[in-house]
Amino acid sequence: MTSEKQFARDLIDFIYESPSSFQTVRNIKAALLRGGFRQLNRNLNWNIERGGKYFVTKNDSALIAFITGAGKVADNGFKVIAAHTDFPALKLKPQAFVKSPDNYLKINVETYGSPILNTWLDRPLSMAGRVVLRSNNPLLPETKFINLKKPVSIIPNIAVHLDKNINTGKTYNKQNDMQPILRTVQDNFENDNYLLELLASHTRTQVEKILDFDLVLYEATQGEIIGAQEEFISSARIDDLAMVHAGVDALLNSGVSNATNIMICFDNEEVGSGTKQGAHSPFVKNILKRIAWALSPTEKDAFFRAKINSFGISADMAHAVHPNSPQLHDSVLRPKINAGPVLKYNANQKYTTDAISAAVFKSLCERAKVPYQQYANRSDISGGSTLGSILSSQLDFRMVDIGNPMLAMHSIRELSGVKDHYYMKKVFEEFYKL
Ligand SMILES: [Zn+2]
Repeated sequence: MTSEKQFARDLIDFIYESPSSFQTVRNIKAALLRGGFRQLNRNLNWNIERGGKYFVTKNDSALIAFITGAGKVADNGFKVIAAHTDFPALKLKPQAFVKSPDNYLKINVETYGSPILNTWLDRPLSMAGRVVLRSNNPLLPETKFINLKKPVSIIPNIAVHLDKNINTGKTYNKQNDMQPILRTVQDNFENDNYLLELLASHTRTQVEKILDFDLVLYEATQGEIIGAQEEFISSARIDDLAMVHAGVDALLNSGVSNATNIMICFDNEEVGSGTKQGAHSPFVKNILKRIAWALSPTEKDAFFRAKINSFGISADMAHAVHPNSPQLHDSVLRPKINAGPVLKYNANQKYTTDAISAAVFKSLCERAKVPYQQYANRSDISGGSTLGSILSSQLDFRMVDIGNPMLAMHSIRELSGVKDHYYMKKVFEEFYKL
């Protein structure tokens, strides 16, 4: 198997084992520990050294990993790659079950982020997340993670015979049309404790200990490499676990450089990043300040000087030209799958890229011998945004927005390129090498 295909295979396995932000962070943690990184606690004193490998987590759903630089922090700064652990999904509401009059037990969900709703129909769905248990200290309940790892639910489509609009612009109501069925039940079925019993048996605890949960449904089928030339990756959650995977791998392969190399995995990008574990929080700034203080305890201005010498890459997926809807793209900026990473531009600063940060990323691609492409929306389509502008304004850094070209963004099953994923890893490795 080629290195490209092997790396794509690794990504597919990583995504399959990461059905919620919590499992994603657990898997990254395990890889970092295997790679010699040490976990730091945010509530303890840090004793960090130059050339050391460390990571911190927040809410079990966001993570910052770093290798402290060998050089003076004020002169060499930070090299940051940032991606996100979350993805559009169906999240269970607190009263999670609805018994329908027709004897189905349905799951009471709300949409998280902006999924393409109709792609969630007829897909075997499983459930994952965290369960929070009573402990001796009411302020510090215990957490257990759960991944059912088997298809337990489905949202069935409507037969074409019953809804003649199904192929001509059918719309989906998030409350009425997106409730998955879990099982059939009899008239006398009591559902009050059904979920808690399910969770208790999977986390080997008692029902009485469970106080709450954060659970999502996810596509139960694993992704695969597809296409006549085996050049495409077809999987759930490519946005943005592909960038998380490439970034973490690059950091694991990176040695010590003069700057501090940092990989950030934020949560909640899909809902605007405005949470304590999202890009719009003080999480990163606080960690960078602590690194600067630890490495330069006598220089009060080290953090502020380091920022001037720092650079950030906001890594989130990009839109490739759609073969069946090419008119949705700009007439000349038309990224293609397997033609290299994409620089994302937006005059209204939904992307943080400017000429200087773009020039830096282009130079990185040239050094890594990787082709690059450029993207801007059609001027009459507002398009999406990501965490780059939020983070660069938080950190006061130079920063660029980039990502790999993909199709079907926010579908339950997205599509990207085998070659592009390997290209991105090479560019990230080049960045951390500097
Ligand atoms: Zn994204």
